[in-house]
Order: sequence, then structure tokens, then C-alpha cells
Amino acid sequence: MKINKVLDILGINKLNEGAATGTKWLKAGGEKIDSYSPVDGKLIASVTASSGKTYDNVVKQAQAAFEEWRMWPAPKRGEVVRQIGEALRKNKEPLGRLVSYEMGKSLQEGLGEVQEMIDIADFAVGLSRQLYGLTMHSERPMHRMYEQWHPLGVVGIISAFNFPVAVWSWNSFVAWVCGDTCVWKSSEKTPLTAIACQNIIAEVFKANKVPEGVCGLVVGGREIGELMSADPRIPLVSATGSTRMGKAVGAAVGARLGRALLELGGNNAIIVSEHADLDIALRACLFGAVGTAGQRCTTTRRLIIHDKVYDAFKKKLVAAYKQLNIGDPLDEKNHVGPLIDKDAVNNYLHAISELKKQGAKVVVAGGVLDGKGYESGCYVKPCIYEVSNDMPIVQHETFAPLLYIMKYSKLEEAIRLQNDVPQGLSSAIMTLNMREAEQYLSHMGSDCGIANVNIGTSGAEIGGAFGGEKETGGGRESGSDSWKAYMRRQTNTINWGNTLPLAQGIKFTV
Ligand code: NAD
Repeated sequence: MKINKVLDILGINKLNEGAATGTKWLKAGGEKIDSYSPVDGKLIASVTASSGKTYDNVVKQAQAAFEEWRMWPAPKRGEVVRQIGEALRKNKEPLGRLVSYEMGKSLQEGLGEVQEMIDIADFAVGLSRQLYGLTMHSERPMHRMYEQWHPLGVVGIISAFNFPVAVWSWNSFVAWVCGDTCVWKSSEKTPLTAIACQNIIAEVFKANKVPEGVCGLVVGGREIGELMSADPRIPLVSATGSTRMGKAVGAAVGARLGRALLELGGNNAIIVSEHADLDIALRACLFGAVGTAGQRCTTTRRLIIHDKVYDAFKKKLVAAYKQLNIGDPLDEKNHVGPLIDKDAVNNYLHAISELKKQGAKVVVAGGVLDGKGYESGCYVKPCIYEVSNDMPIVQHETFAPLLYIMKYSKLEEAIRLQNDVPQGLSSAIMTLNMREAEQYLSHMGSDCGIANVNIGTSGAEIGGAFGGEKETGGGRESGSDSWKAYMRRQTNTINWGNTLPLAQGIKFTV
């Protein structure tokens, strides 16, 4: 499918308004954002970003819509999300292609990202009948005590460029069945995929007469994110992006005692034990390190390899890196696509020069590619360095295909190295030794939000709660009981007797 056809199907014009309340596009009023593809450097289309005033109107509409939307029974809200899942199934191919072309990930990953949206839609439909609270036994006679979950109001969603659509769906589909309305500030680097999503759901919202404002969109940069973080009308801001951004959002939301759900940077390691199946380990490490050109929050950045298998595994890795095809991500024969933009290329080059300064040893050299097929200037070579974990650059997340390797001899040492970084998102051990695996998963093991055995660090399923500890922000999204973040808990006690006994045995006589 040609890109012009993709844009046509998804309702993308040459110049698009970057603000909507659900089914209606507003005059956005902000600056023009041109979206260039990192694949070939061509201008795809432009968007007028939302001004502060338009943002204000979108939030007002979301507040008004909440009054009505919260009155819809949760399973009825779930039915709307079910139909959104259907609409995404129909549009999987064009939307997946646009994700791939605008962001630069492989077509398989672009389609996979849309599949993740479909999966979370299915999950949210089931959830719409399972927003359970507990009941407790009261200490007082003839009293009933229970807790229930109420919607919060308007949820603000700030998303990153690397998962331009899935992260929005993780948040909004769950928030909608919970009874919240949403305002999405998409990444300014991928505005067209956001507009495409808005067009897809608008049809469903229209057909179901969903109140205007349940799904707001504001395209814009950091300034709109800052407005959202400081906005007391937004009880929950769910922000995905760098740790730098998360610290700013967390501080602004905290200053007004709102809630922030933070999904921030990772610095993920795989421990390759002497007891590993090295073929499985190789595939996991390779996909984790070079998939999405190293631009996943769960990208494998560090390998901690047992000294008994270190040389053999390093050899396998180097051989595998030699087989990698770098090029147009829409062409299935390529394994590695471009970085998102030239700034990302500069960050990659900066990291390489820091590695040199800090004494790292090159195992596979990097570099920027040029010539035919690389005209966008965003294609770089995945590279490998031998490092020591305490080098400042190793402690930092560089969003590029840089892989750091180091040795260990005792499992405790490997776990210490793995945990000895500021971030705590994803982690894995490759071992067939049951004791090692269990130690790794115990409280003495990985300190990350995600810990795997014999699979890599990237590619989480939607059924689990997704997120990480420490500088990754502590948030949890997607499956399990993550929905609780989008609701407020209320404890209720009802006295159905004819006296007023007090708790804690207190007597109050008048
Ligand atoms: P980024 O931090 O530059 O931007 C993310 C979003 O935050 C954008 O929408 C941006 O406009 C907004 N923003 C930036 N500064 C802000 C501020 N001060 N206040 C409010 N909003 C602000 O990140 P990016 O380059 O788009 O994405 C890459 C980063 O995202 C990496 O660090 C990656 O690990 C992280 N990420 C984390 C997860 C996760 O689930 N943990 C998922 C995807 C990406």
C-alpha cells in the first residue's frame, strides 16, 4: 500500500488541525509542525499545533462530557471500546504503515503496535464488567462496610514518539471504561498517527452518540504538556517519556497534589548465565538491542555475561551484528530502521564520543550511514562496547542502538551490576538453572518493574501491569489491576441497626 493511499484512508490532509474534542476538529491556532519521515526524509504532511487557548477549550469540553459519560453504565462504555477495537482491526494495515513511516520502526513492529491497541481494547471490554471493589466485615454490629471505585474526571495523557499510538490506547481505553474522559497530548514528533487515531475513533463515537469531549486531542510540544501538568482540572496526568520530562511533570502535578502516572526511561540489562541456552540468549539479546533501532524504553542496553561464556557469546554477538541489514523499515528484509531525527543521531554520536573518553572498548563500531537509501541522515550502525557499569554514560539512557557488555563471575555480582543504575524498568536472566532463576526473581534479585527468565527485556504483553521503579517513575499501565490508577477508591460504611456504636470501642454518652 502506497503512503498516499494510507494518508487518504486515515483522513490525513496536507495541513491538519491539531486539536479535537472527539468527532469535531477545532481551529488549533498554534504553530505549524511539519512531520518528516525518518525513513526517507520526505515531508509527509503538516499540522497546526494547539494553542493554549484551544487546549483550554478542549479541557472544558472534556469536563462537560465527564458529567454525562460517568452516567453511562461501564459495560455500555465497554461496548464503545469494543467497537473501537473493531475499527482498529479494519485499519490495522494503514495505521501500522503510518506508524512505521512516521516513526521509523519496522512494518512488523508498526502492525504489532496496532495489534497491541486491539488487544488492550479487548482487555478493556472485559474490564468494563470487572471494576470490582472489596467488602469487609465491620467491627460494629449491623454495619456493612465495602469499598467502591469511582471515575476520576479528566485524564491527561502525554505520550512519547516511540510508541506513538499504543501508549495512548493503554491509557484511554482503560480510562474510558472506568468512566473518565481523556485529553491526549501526543508527541510533537509523531502528530499524524495521533490525527489518524482520532479519525478512526470519531466514526465509532458518532455512531454511538458518545458525548463530545470524551476523547480530546491536542497536538503540541512541551508547552502544552506543561499546561496540562499544572492544570487543576486534570486529576490524573499519565506521562510517558524521558526521566527528565517525568521529573518536571511529577513536580508540577505534585505541587498541586494531583496524581501523576509516570512511565519513563529504562536502562535494561540481560544477565547471560553460564547455564544459559546461548542460542535463545543470542536471539533475545539481539532483538532487545537493535529492535526499533534501540528506541524502546525496554531496549536491552547492557549485557552482563558470565566469564565462562563471555568470549563465546561475544563472538556470536559480533557475528550476528554482521548479518544485520540496515535500511527502509517498510522493507521486510531490513532488521534496523532509522532513528527518529537528527537530534537523536547527535545524541548517539555524543554517547560514542563519551564512551571513548570514559575508556570503553569498541567491539562493533558505530557510525552514521549515508548514500542511497540513507538520504534522511537518520540511519546509524548498531554498535557494541565493552564497558564498566560505573561509567557515567553507561548509567544514562541513550535512545539509540548502543549495547554495553560486561563480565561477572557470581550471580550476586551480576544482580548488583544490573540493579546499580538509576532506572528500573525491565530486566532478564538467561539460565536453565532453576535456583538461579528463582533467586533472580526473589526479593534478592532484580529491582525492576519487569523481570523475565529466558526471554529478553522488550516486548511486554498487555495482560501484565507495565512500568518500572526508581527513575522509571513507578507507574503501572495496561493490564492486571492498573485500572485502579484511573479511579478513586471510596470506603463506605452503612449502619442498618437501631443504635450508633462507635469504632475503637469508644463510648460517647450524652
Ligand atoms: P520526551 O521526554 O522528549 O517527550 C515525551 C513527551 O513529553 C512528549 O509528548 C513531549 O512533548 C512531552 N514533554 C517534554 N517535556 C515536557 C515537560 N517539561 N512537561 C510536559 N511535557 C513534556 O521523550 P521522547 O523522546 O518522546 O521518548 C523517549 C523517552 O520515552 C525515552 O526515555 C523512553 O525510555 C521513554 N519511554 C518510556 C516508556 C515507558 O513505558 N516507561 C515508553 C515509551 C517511551
